[in-house]
Amino acid sequence: MAEADIVVRGARIRGRPEDRKYDVYIQDGRIESIRGHPSPGHGEHEIEARGRLLMPAFFNMHFHLDSVLTMGDPRFNESGTLWEGIEIWAERKKRLTVDEMLERVTKAVKWMVAYGTLWLRTHADTTEKTLTTVRGLIEARERLKDLMWIQVTAFPQDGILTDPENAELLEKAAEMGVDNIGMIPHNEYTRFDGAKSVEVAFDIAQKYDKDIDGHVDETDDPWSRNLEVVARETIRRGYQGRVAAGHVTASHSWDPVYRDRVFKLAARARVSIVPNPLINIHLQGRFDGYPKRRGMAPIKVALSKGVNVALGHDCIMDPWYPLGVGDMLQALFMAVHVDQMMGYQELKQSLDLITINAAKIWHIEDDYGVSEGKTANLVLLKGRTEIDALRLMGPPLYVIKEGRIVADNTGGTSRVLFEGRWEELDFSQISE
Ligand SMILES: [Zn+2]
Repeated sequence: MAEADIVVRGARIRGRPEDRKYDVYIQDGRIESIRGHPSPGHGEHEIEARGRLLMPAFFNMHFHLDSVLTMGDPRFNESGTLWEGIEIWAERKKRLTVDEMLERVTKAVKWMVAYGTLWLRTHADTTEKTLTTVRGLIEARERLKDLMWIQVTAFPQDGILTDPENAELLEKAAEMGVDNIGMIPHNEYTRFDGAKSVEVAFDIAQKYDKDIDGHVDETDDPWSRNLEVVARETIRRGYQGRVAAGHVTASHSWDPVYRDRVFKLAARARVSIVPNPLINIHLQGRFDGYPKRRGMAPIKVALSKGVNVALGHDCIMDPWYPLGVGDMLQALFMAVHVDQMMGYQELKQSLDLITINAAKIWHIEDDYGVSEGKTANLVLLKGRTEIDALRLMGPPLYVIKEGRIVADNTGGTSRVLFEGRWEELDFSQISE
């Protein structure tokens, strides 16, 4: 008789000695036991890991599902800049409908699940005044929850104080049931408005008991200094551990003395920083000749000051970013290059940026990881070591959500279990 629903046999486990292999028994959605390999028990379903690396599944902590897979509609971004992207999106968002958005979102989520992401935070543009984005993404959160956990952040793309209606729309989104409140202080008209907008976002978050997830200082401008305001408000309002600041690319250009002070303040406030390496290296540094700034928040420095750092993918094939398949290992691969995290231990540890560090922001760190009793949310990678994970990248062989295999990339195709049936994925924006 089978002792478990699934046994992953002969796996290496991240965080345990590389010269040992384990059999992981999964039962009723949880990791029932981890035994030395070989062990005599049997599972209903057996996976032969052959020494490959088993680790907890990935997080994508910053993403824009509302614009995903709209590239080329109404036109392509020829300059490749943030500003042309915003212009194109302003046109495109007038034609959003819940149905067409759900179609794109569902496709992209399947890709990301196939690549091992089970948790995703998406922004929903609340300056799109019909709030179609919010309705559509809240619906996607429900409809796709067997595949992936999605949190929706109300995101005032064009600013909170730039239009008298925008704060109302942000609050309306909170009433509609978003998970987090966003902000974009560097996009307000003045730095004073920037600071004020942070307070408005916190007011709404506090009133509705939501976490904060902002776009903060996403510019090369060294005088963009909103992270300090975010940290101050966090401390003032007792919001420690409930705030994430996305991008913070300006911190790359800050004076080191200033950066030291503000990163320490962010650490004290337990404000997490969420760089988006693929998009940051692509969109920042656009005013520079050569030498050209890298424009990604200095992750190593932030970690060394005690700041929690996790990564986002930000975009796939939209007005801002023409590439991507939703592989968080690609985002991490870019990060370790841009920030020169190439020491052996640094490389091994860098996987924390798409796993445990993000689990802390999601408040599930106690139930996250490959150990007995925890919910089985796992990926079995192609490679055998953490270095292999970064060399070979995705997709993993298998993705397991709550003890069920939800993605199978063995056999030369990618398949995802959706609404009770296995579907073969096609990773192209356009259909056959
Ligand atoms: Zn973003």
